[in-house]
Amino acid sequence: MRGKFKIENRISLRVKSLRPYLFYKIAKAKEKALASSKELIDLGAGDPDLFPQKKIIETLRAQALKPENHRHPVYEGIMELKVAIAEWFSNRFRVKLNPRDEILILGGSKEGLGLIPWAILNPNEIALVPDPGYPVYHRSVLLSGGKPVFFPLIKENNWLPDLDKIKVSFKSKLIFLNYPNNPTGAVPDLSFFEKLFEFAQKNKIVVCNDMAYSEITFDGKKSHSFLEIEGAKEIGLEFFSFSKTYSMTGWRIGFAVGDKRLIDALREIKVTLSSGVFHLTQKGALSALSLPQKEIDKIRKVYQQRRDVLVKGLKELGWRPEVPQGAIFVWAKIPFSLDSEKMAMMLLEKGGILTTPGIGLGKSGKDYIRFSLTSPVEKIKEGLKRMERIRL
Ligand SMILES: *Cc1c(COP(=O)(O)O)cnc(C)c1O
Repeated sequence: MRGKFKIENRISLRVKSLRPYLFYKIAKAKEKALASSKELIDLGAGDPDLFPQKKIIETLRAQALKPENHRHPVYEGIMELKVAIAEWFSNRFRVKLNPRDEILILGGSKEGLGLIPWAILNPNEIALVPDPGYPVYHRSVLLSGGKPVFFPLIKENNWLPDLDKIKVSFKSKLIFLNYPNNPTGAVPDLSFFEKLFEFAQKNKIVVCNDMAYSEITFDGKKSHSFLEIEGAKEIGLEFFSFSKTYSMTGWRIGFAVGDKRLIDALREIKVTLSSGVFHLTQKGALSALSLPQKEIDKIRKVYQQRRDVLVKGLKELGWRPEVPQGAIFVWAKIPFSLDSEKMAMMLLEKGGILTTPGIGLGKSGKDYIRFSLTSPVEKIKEGLKRMERIRL
């Protein structure tokens, strides 16, 4: 029997308030381009092409044979992993965390970033969101019934927000930040986090810093944690990920650290909507944390070399790319009168080069292309050659 009503009208306004998820669109464009048999240069999504270290894979394999790992996972994460994270955090940032209640294991940091607005915002309350930025922030705010208010990241300010110019009201409760930054590659000094702390205190705003790229920094620069600021742990959370540092995007594991009350609230939402993270994955993450520092240095070097090749090549083609200090992207202003979507389409259709149009990361990205560093140097060089051939 035919339906008696329009099912489209039964879909919530919540869903309709979203535009199609950018990276889903890009994945579809990629499938289409691959089907056309042209060899694709993939500088699109931030999905590392490297392989996780052997030790991590071996842990996974060995742990798979243990029956206890296949039961329902511990909701907040296994203690062993949380203790290892506390130790790592203390060595890395000189910040003490209580593994019992200041750490929550997540199914990818995205899970936490997506759920945190539900834990903090009442209907129509405001989250401050960076433009350009990872689309999950404003989308999860919209879904939760809150209101995203964008603030610009400004080149003249080294891609940091001008905190004095951010308009706040009594409804502003949450600010998202992401350093090392996707897409601009900015890595701030500790002095920025001091100012951020003052701003947040003064305006009673919870800070959520997305640290997905905490370990991927260049030229000897190291990222800082917001929690290094005295008192910051009481008003904020930070989200970390195993995806990028250890090339484990498919594993879906990350963690949140910070104030106990915020962690409790986030956990309450998490245990309702999902469950714990598969124990095999958690054991794999534990193994990743025990890798010697030189393994991380190797990964940094790989991305830095790719960055250098891409930045140099783009400059030779007349572009003026930002030189990223961290993360795995080059943010480059388009040197022609083409908007980002047209430019990305042209790169894909004429050159077989997959990139991300800046507009997908926010209004202020409309004249930018984001190139990711997730293809080997030879592929990047090939991509640059193709760009030259199609006179870009
Ligand atoms: C990739 C990415 C994430 C997601 O990381 P997962 O741990 O895989 O969920 C979060 N934030 C930013 C800025 C990213 O680029």
